[in-house]
Amino acid sequence: MAVDTVSMDKIVSLCRRRGFVFPSSEIYGGLGSTYDYGHYGVLLKNNIKARWFEAMILERDDIVALDSAVILHPRVWEASGHVEGFTDPLVDCRTCKLRFRADKLEDSQCGRKPSKHPGETPECDLTEPRQFNLMFETTVGPVQEEGAKAYLRPETAQGIFINFKNVLQIARRRPPFGIAQIGKSFRNEITPGNFLFRVREFEQMEMEYFVPPAESERWYRYWIDERLDWYLRYGLRRSRLRVREHGPEERSHYSQGTSDIEYLYPIGWSELEGVANRGDFDLTRHTEFSTTKLEYVGPDGERYVPHVIEPAVSLERIIVAMLVDAYDEEVVGERERTVLRFHPEVAPVTAAILPLIAKDEGLVSKARSLYEELRKRQSVEYDDNGAIGRRYRRQDEIGTPWAFTIDEQTLSDDTVTVRDRDSLAQERLPIGGVRRWLDDALERDWKTPKGD
Ligand code: ATP
Repeated sequence: MAVDTVSMDKIVSLCRRRGFVFPSSEIYGGLGSTYDYGHYGVLLKNNIKARWFEAMILERDDIVALDSAVILHPRVWEASGHVEGFTDPLVDCRTCKLRFRADKLEDSQCGRKPSKHPGETPECDLTEPRQFNLMFETTVGPVQEEGAKAYLRPETAQGIFINFKNVLQIARRRPPFGIAQIGKSFRNEITPGNFLFRVREFEQMEMEYFVPPAESERWYRYWIDERLDWYLRYGLRRSRLRVREHGPEERSHYSQGTSDIEYLYPIGWSELEGVANRGDFDLTRHTEFSTTKLEYVGPDGERYVPHVIEPAVSLERIIVAMLVDAYDEEVVGERERTVLRFHPEVAPVTAAILPLIAKDEGLVSKARSLYEELRKRQSVEYDDNGAIGRRYRRQDEIGTPWAFTIDEQTLSDDTVTVRDRDSLAQERLPIGGVRRWLDDALERDWKTPKGD
């Protein structure tokens, strides 16, 4: 029986228990809503990034990669509108001394009575909202003077816009073409929380797609569909995804159209990824502020400022969605198991190699040589520690799709057992054919057994 909804607490506790994600700075008492990724968390992140990079760049001819700096010229953030307008409304409670986002009181808890929202008890004493800029400030160079002020980037997009001319000239592109980048962004969120969903330091994956102005609506629709398909391709259930188009009052100042791809998180439907039609706002503003013309000039002399379609997401929100979607508990025989039904191409470990008896030299040597062969191409794990049932359950909990067990029969006929994480089916195959079998298995279409 599939577990249909899972609490965030269960996800947090599994992540910690199996070393995906740890609360950061724990030995110093922690730093609220900041996390460190452990071994399996890093492998999961790397796989998600690789799948995004494939879909955005390697499988296409029209998008190139970029890795821009975190600290940019401060004028960049004036041009982009962030210095003036990247703010959230903040209220303080004079009673409990906590701070809240005025537009998210419904999602916050009163400091004295966590079962109530701020403002709901007679003791709550909230100030009027005031605007709070979410950019982290820093100083560049050894002197902390006004001219040395800089910011940690709150999005990766601006690094792309300021490189528009470089890419246009050096990569010799003409619209429609895109520039994609993956990198850390920083936002001093007033109320971070819900595990990785809202954090102050996160890794964004953004792509700016430059198009002729007349084609912007078509490409905007195209990218909503493409991104939705990507989530389905990597196993998220259709029933847990929806597209919500912003009304005019909700859109950012630059936006001519914005849609959120939402996922049904344990906190309810919330933004997983945003797709925005940014028009010519960014290139026009950077032209104005830098005095460098950011436009496309065609071979026959036509010139225009391309419009921009932007799909933007953080790895953190994808990770939470994938964990929630994959999480399952079931009783097998008499035993309960927790299993992460990850898509095989995002699972941190693709296969486990398990010699049935750790002390049997014959088994160990066969298992080790299979492990050495597979690890050249895949993320595989060798485990000879404990009873085989416990080893299977450890792999289930980190979402390993297949386990190869080397037993006594292997010594006589050179076959191994492969166990499937989802169906629990076991079959025997020649040890020499395992590598090929694994390649084929990864090529096959995969669908979650949890249904649509
Ligand atoms: P929200 O309304 O949830 O604050 P946003 O609309 O400000 O998000 P964008 O500026 O569109 O978010 O950022 C693009 C993407 O970056 C979001 O869709 C989300 O995936 C991710 N993101 C934004 N803020 C955070 C955060 N604090 N923690 C984790 N991911 C984030």
